[in-house]
Amino acid sequence: MRTAIGVDLGGSHVTAGVIGEDGSIQAQHELDLEDLSFSTVTEALVSVIGKALGGGKAVAIGIGSPGNIEPNTGVVLYSPNFGWENAPLGPSLSQRFDVPVFVGNDARCATLGEYTFGTGVGTKNFVLLTLGTGIGGGIVADGDLILGNRFGAGEIGHHQIRPTDGFICGCGKIGCFEAQSSGTGLIRHAFAVAPSFPRSKLLDLPRDDLGSKKIRKAAQAGDQHALAAWKNYASDLALGLANIIAFVNPQRIALGGGVSSAGEFMLEAVRARVDDLTTMVPKGTTELVIAKLGNDAGQVGAATMAFRRGLTTLQ
Ligand SMILES: [Zn+2]
Repeated sequence: MRTAIGVDLGGSHVTAGVIGEDGSIQAQHELDLEDLSFSTVTEALVSVIGKALGGGKAVAIGIGSPGNIEPNTGVVLYSPNFGWENAPLGPSLSQRFDVPVFVGNDARCATLGEYTFGTGVGTKNFVLLTLGTGIGGGIVADGDLILGNRFGAGEIGHHQIRPTDGFICGCGKIGCFEAQSSGTGLIRHAFAVAPSFPRSKLLDLPRDDLGSKKIRKAAQAGDQHALAAWKNYASDLALGLANIIAFVNPQRIALGGGVSSAGEFMLEAVRARVDDLTTMVPKGTTELVIAKLGNDAGQVGAATMAFRRGLTTLQ
């Protein structure tokens, strides 16, 4: 079976997987990143990709990177996470390897991975939302990943759902979907309702230890404070989901990321409100599911991009 190297480049580490054409992960190599300057990250990529290539015969290398990326040239136009502008990631790496190198946005790559090998199988209209520190996502319409005019399509996390009374988003706007409904959003909801729960056990924890996982688990165990936060969180999540349905009416929306580990508990919390908020689109025509590939979606999707020689079939 042919293999490609799929790389998931994050803010603290980089993972390079040897991925089969059937989406299987045959080997994985990981490296921590301490310095995020372009030259240091490039060298780290060369090292970890070199290890993944080994003596093998991968047909191509695909890299999913944060930021706004020109997928035809592999230039990172803008990446706030790394502080890069017009960084020639693809061209720099192409010089170092004998096989073609493709670079795409990490969330779009994860969407392609989940679409091709996870819960997207059997659909032609699909959305992936990764609920983590932020919200990453991507949209597949009629079988093709939407990239947009300047590769900005799919930034679902930054549509505002509470512009007047929401939390401040990392992007500077108020009440973005990401600010309200990411894992970080769940923590904010917990602090927002805290005054009503002065004896909450969650508040006994040092502030920095109160993560989304603890709140989610406490909600599942019936803790009143956590449940109040969860209810507001789910309400905001449903608002964003109904908007996505109004924009693209996908056959399926898959929820990934840490918070989605709540599984059916999460889906139950949002289904009725998504239905209520779905007005002009026929109700029940978009299925909500939990994503299947988890943290592997990024590298599997990056390798898929490499096999396809680009993020979309239209290039
Ligand atoms: Zn935002």
